[in-house]
Amino acid sequence: HATKRTMADHLRRLETLFTLTPQRLRMITHAFRETLDLGLEKKEQVVPMIPTFVFGWPTGQEKGDYLAIDLGGTNLRVCLVHLQGQGKFEVTQSKYRLTEEQKQDEGQKLFDFCAESLKTFIDSNSGEDGILNIEPGQNLPLGFTFSYPCRQDSIDHGVLIRWTKGFGAPNTEGHNVAEMFQKSLDKFELPVTLTALINDTTGTLIASHYVHPDTRIACIFGTGCNAAYMEHVKDVPKIKDLGIDGDLDMAINCEWGAFDSFEHEHLPRTKYDIIIDESSNKPAEQAFEKLISGRYLGEIMRLVICELIDDGILFLGQNTYKVEVPNALDTALVSLMESDPTDELLMIIGIMSHFFALETTLAERQFLRAIARLIGRRAARLSACGIGAIVGKMGYLESGCNVGCDGSLYNKYPGFAGRIQEGLVDIYGEKARNIYTHHAEDGSGVGSAIIAAMTKARK
Ligand code: ADP
Repeated sequence: HATKRTMADHLRRLETLFTLTPQRLRMITHAFRETLDLGLEKKEQVVPMIPTFVFGWPTGQEKGDYLAIDLGGTNLRVCLVHLQGQGKFEVTQSKYRLTEEQKQDEGQKLFDFCAESLKTFIDSNSGEDGILNIEPGQNLPLGFTFSYPCRQDSIDHGVLIRWTKGFGAPNTEGHNVAEMFQKSLDKFELPVTLTALINDTTGTLIASHYVHPDTRIACIFGTGCNAAYMEHVKDVPKIKDLGIDGDLDMAINCEWGAFDSFEHEHLPRTKYDIIIDESSNKPAEQAFEKLISGRYLGEIMRLVICELIDDGILFLGQNTYKVEVPNALDTALVSLMESDPTDELLMIIGIMSHFFALETTLAERQFLRAIARLIGRRAARLSACGIGAIVGKMGYLESGCNVGCDGSLYNKYPGFAGRIQEGLVDIYGEKARNIYTHHAEDGSGVGSAIIAAMTKARK
């Protein structure tokens, strides 16, 4: 008869499962780099490396008033961005709530709602003491942030490949969404011209560079996980037939959350990760994202907790039904548990009793914090592999560069930035200290406006 495992035994086991050695990080980075190259070489790869038709960096001197509209997962956001040059800007914005029905309703109706909200925004900010001054006959340039995978062949055109983030509006997939939106804009007779259709990651890249000119890469660590960077057109063989000048640079939206999907050859997945994958609405897809993003980290921790409850290690004699509900543990709570500053871990007492009606011993709370740390650290170190792949490929180790990052995980998870850097040092040694991450500017508002300005200048 085997002796029963203790909490300490479990912790040692989990440490082994969730810890990535420097050697492992280097192997993943190597495979990641090959995957990025493959996506640039051939069409329709797992990591699609989408050409964005955003050419080169902003000068920082882009000026003027631009409207930006961002169809996000939860809200519709409308912004007026006043670019002042010298990397400075002002933003005025309004948010309009999207209902679950709207996300599933006819696609054209969804765009009508976007146009109608834009009209409300323009009307309420125009007039005597309004900030908007549109002369009769004048049209303001509009940037549209539409962060769903689109096939583009120019900056103001994009065919929706598939809806993500819970959207399902019919008659939209396979259609040019820029054209659909323009139809709605015309219907409301708005004084705007849709000049650019962009993804939030690309917007973040451009907005970060406007403010920090040494930015070369942008990453999003929120509900999902993605990155964009600036590539030489001559190094994107799959678009050779478009005849674009090879001396130009173009931003690439990597859609890197898909790394290692389907084959599962490179990423060390635990049994908890496999459960999450198999019970997700898209099994086998977004394999990298599932180990990193805010949508999953809380659930990974919850599955570990449930296993220890079943094993008779945690919360003995208590009713644990509340923590046994799928997705009951938000990633924000994992982040709070890790950052608990008190010796007694009072924050964790509060979280466990308030959300799950569970009392905890100090040993249990220390265990919970240790698990949170393992999960958060793994996510940041895996992110370092993606950044490391781009950095290595583009030769930024020598020159050094800045990486603009956005999303709640980067902004709020304790130590996330430091752990990315630690991961980069494990991959490349001390010279990785030339690579900095920073909190990026608002990509979907400011970035979109700057791209609209750059587009106008090119025409
Ligand atoms: P989105 O990616 O949808 O634009 P966010 O960047 O805010 O928005 O990311 C939302 C995700 O971040 C959610 O999955 C949520 O669980 C997670 N999250 C929210 N607050 C925190 C926090 N304080 N620490 C870590 N993760 C958080």
